[in-house]
Amino acid sequence: MKHRSYMTPKQRQARSKLAKLVHEHSFVRGTLITMSRVCGNPNCRCARGEKHVSLYLSRSESGKPTLLFIPKKYERMVQGWIENYRSIKELLEVVSLELWDGIKQRRFD
Ligand SMILES: [Zn+2]
Repeated sequence: MKHRSYMTPKQRQARSKLAKLVHEHSFVRGTLITMSRVCGNPNCRCARGEKHVSLYLSRSESGKPTLLFIPKKYERMVQGWIENYRSIKELLEVVSLELWDGIKQRRFD
């Protein structure tokens, strides 16, 4: 690849972690939230105060929240994907800042 002859060790490390995450793992932007609700059945336990607790993946798109129901058994998997997304974002920022410094120092080769 062109224009990559100079890389700080920090940048090299961040890029390598980034590549690994993107190639080998899944990632999703969002947060897990729990919501409790009543189902409407007057004979259900929720009518007596024991509400149904459900898990949702929440994501905000231009201020509008989108919710996606997540079955309990997928909670940990989705949580992992969320963490991967955050790591990718952080690593992108590390690389970007390193390049920002490079531009500031007129280091284009
Ligand atoms: Zn119910």
